[in-house]
Amino acid sequence: MGGTKILGIVTDGVTANVITSERMPTPKDPDKFADGILAVVETLLAREPGVKGIGVGVPGLVDYNGVLHYGPNVQGVLGLDIAGDLSERFALPAVAENDGYLTALTEHRLGAARGHDHAIIVTQGTGIGGGLVVGGQVLRGANGFAGEPGHMLVNRFGHVCACGQRGCWESVSSGAGLANIARELVEEGRGQGILAAAGGDPTKIRGEHVSSANDAGDADGQEVLDRFSWWVAQGIASLIALLDPSIVVLGGGLSAISEGFISAVASQVPEAVVGGEYRPAVPIAAAEFGAEAGAVGAALRARDYVING
Ligand SMILES: [Zn+2]
Repeated sequence: MGGTKILGIVTDGVTANVITSERMPTPKDPDKFADGILAVVETLLAREPGVKGIGVGVPGLVDYNGVLHYGPNVQGVLGLDIAGDLSERFALPAVAENDGYLTALTEHRLGAARGHDHAIIVTQGTGIGGGLVVGGQVLRGANGFAGEPGHMLVNRFGHVCACGQRGCWESVSSGAGLANIARELVEEGRGQGILAAAGGDPTKIRGEHVSSANDAGDADGQEVLDRFSWWVAQGIASLIALLDPSIVVLGGGLSAISEGFISAVASQVPEAVVGGEYRPAVPIAAAEFGAEAGAVGAALRARDYVING
């Protein structure tokens, strides 16, 4: 479940092989949010009546009981008992989790972090998502809310984040962050090509204006990407200092913004991380799953839940 669409899939809960899938736009009315999920599940169950359990990923703070407490991209959902509603309606075991947790589960079990007991998974889209693998498990925390690296504070004088705070890592390392950095350049009197691509209005600058300027050989486009990759590297360095992983996985549309973006980030991390020259370099790998990672992880989690509770 995302801010713009709901994707439902049926799998065996072990692999990423999709037996059937269904997608629909996320209802605009927050009161219809649960109805959207129920409708997708109902359609899938009609096609595959042998389904044994249901998993849902939601962009927000989801507790151990599957209740959503906060979701800036899915407003109006406070206290929504997603797992309980599904379980009652379809008489099947159901579980709801944060989508970053599920993406990390997918990359850990089936993707780029396979075989790593300590890993950081970061997805760069409109915002930043992700999860932290510690001791072979995706970290959940005391309430189920662990793994929100996008809201680490990196600059108290920074840009306002989607969460309302100023200076979160997300505000300089996501799609919104890329646009913020481009606006900084425009305020310095540069970036005219980027500004023109946005119709001359700095508030309309988006990530794609930067990437198209860069693709066209615009030096200011490259400058924005250089500053962007620097910020991404600083955040990753902080996470490495905190968790000592053996791999970092970068996913989401932004991680593929330019040829060599991931290697540009990787080359700056050793300098930024404490004791960089005294520790093994941590490989930074591209995620193996895209937008479907959360749905695949929801099915993995549903199978675990059916078997182990
Ligand atoms: Zn934030």
